[in-house]
Amino acid sequence: MRTPAGTECPHYYEDFNRGRQTQECRLVQRNRASLPWRPADCERCPVPEILRTNRSSDLRLELTIEKRFGFFRRNRVEAYCLAHVRGVSDPIRGCPDCAADRSQVAP
Ligand code: SF4
Repeated sequence: MRTPAGTECPHYYEDFNRGRQTQECRLVQRNRASLPWRPADCERCPVPEILRTNRSSDLRLELTIEKRFGFFRRNRVEAYCLAHVRGVSDPIRGCPDCAADRSQVAP
């Protein structure tokens, strides 16, 4: 679904039918440690780009909206690989162990 920032994101949901005014980020909803989502949080969110470039079904993302210096809101993304049960420091490039597995399989 297209976010208020104009990007496609599978975690965004909206419903304005029949007078409803629903807008949600379902990725943030799963994270109790996050500040509540606001539509403007989509503007600087790295999740759509991560999902465009890394299509691994083993990649899991956690999005935390937090305040920096008590004022600026930022979206912090943490990534995990379910296949190798490890954190992924660069979710755009993906899990290094998955890349190593692929290079061993390639002829
Ligand atoms: S905040 Fe990020 S993950 Fe959430 S709906 Fe917006 S673009 Fe998607």
